[in-house]
Amino acid sequence: MNLHEYQGKEILNSFGVQIQRGKVASTPDEAVAAAKSLTEETGTGWHVVKAQVHAGGRGKGGGVKLAKSLDEVRSLTEQIIGMQLITPQTSAEGKTVHQVLITEDVYYPGESEPEEYYMSVLLDRAKGRNMIMYSPEGGMDIEAVAEDTPHLIFTEEIDPKTGLLPFQARRIAFNLGLSGKAFKEMTKFVFALYTAYVKSDSSLFEINPVLKTSDNRVIAVDAKVTIDDNALFRHKDYEAMRDLREENAVEVEAREVGLSYVDLDGNVGCMVNGAGLAMATMDLIKQAGGEPANFLDVGGTADAERVETAFNLILRDPNVKAILVNIFGGIVRCDRVAQGIVDAYKNMGTINVPIIVRLQGTNADIAKNLIDNSGLDVHSAIEFQEAADKVQEVLS
Ligand code: GDP
Ligand code: MN
Repeated sequence: MNLHEYQGKEILNSFGVQIQRGKVASTPDEAVAAAKSLTEETGTGWHVVKAQVHAGGRGKGGGVKLAKSLDEVRSLTEQIIGMQLITPQTSAEGKTVHQVLITEDVYYPGESEPEEYYMSVLLDRAKGRNMIMYSPEGGMDIEAVAEDTPHLIFTEEIDPKTGLLPFQARRIAFNLGLSGKAFKEMTKFVFALYTAYVKSDSSLFEINPVLKTSDNRVIAVDAKVTIDDNALFRHKDYEAMRDLREENAVEVEAREVGLSYVDLDGNVGCMVNGAGLAMATMDLIKQAGGEPANFLDVGGTADAERVETAFNLILRDPNVKAILVNIFGGIVRCDRVAQGIVDAYKNMGTINVPIIVRLQGTNADIAKNLIDNSGLDVHSAIEFQEAADKVQEVLS
């Protein structure tokens, strides 16, 4: 589950990570009130108005603006709330901004120049270990840094038996070129950040920039936080942070009815039982020259109602040119699934894409007969290859 910057910062701060302070606002009045109270707390009169959407690159898209007065806080908020923010990470139509984060300005002048660093914590799946990735060249162009000067991206691998060790935090501060107070602040920051990552059951933290202020404090200015969905059951407070406006409508609906559905870009919808078979089916579609339009695991109980719900979800995607149903009848009998498909098809009335059904397992032959004799635009198959050939046939 992805979070907004303001929510991510809240979580970081709850584990002692120093952050750029801010308050979220949904209206210009709220924004001005937020700015006023921040000024009372921090004493700086300047603020930043930051669009809250689930996408990075907001600065480049005009979603992050410096306000030098309360009037500017108001006018920038009026401008940003309701806008379609287009960034390098959004689609061409962009994302609607519903809220802004009003923050203190932390790039104030002082004894040294503020410096921007990049830092992320993530799981290296190949090694099965958490990793801290960081760079002295943080800020808005980290992708270019990775491309042009990859030697400026460092990694620190964490052994799960020991956790992050003090020498590792010091190495990070050293590689970032820090000394004195800033060095100590950075080691504290890294420890707090790593603790937050582990305790919050996150799968990604990306803090870009981490800022060394002109008075040598180290703070998170941005926060991209992804919580591991599988751990949400033990973080009810994070689950409550879910913003459905940011999520794919079909995926939200699927989750509500307990179907595991992921929207993809292709043209062949798939309905499968079991995640492994779903992966194999997506491979099959690719081999047949198609592209999967979704991942959909209907689970063990593929009754008529579930099949119908699943069809409905798949058909909401206008790119779907064919649907491949690939179900193994182990616990559930194939003939029951076949009946479910036929019933769903008849109930829905308006399915105008061809459906290829592969049912294998208990009563597969009865199931095939049921489908072949239904009089519907449904192609049956028992073998994997047969199904693939039929997909190819209906696509061409
Ligand atoms: P992103 O563009 O979505 O990654 O949003 P960020 O939160 O990283 O903000 C974008 C940029 O705005 C940062 O890289 C900074 O250069 C700038 N910025 C953020 N906070 C401040 C601030 O307090 N003062 C000033 N002057 N600039 C800021
Ligand atoms: Mn950023």
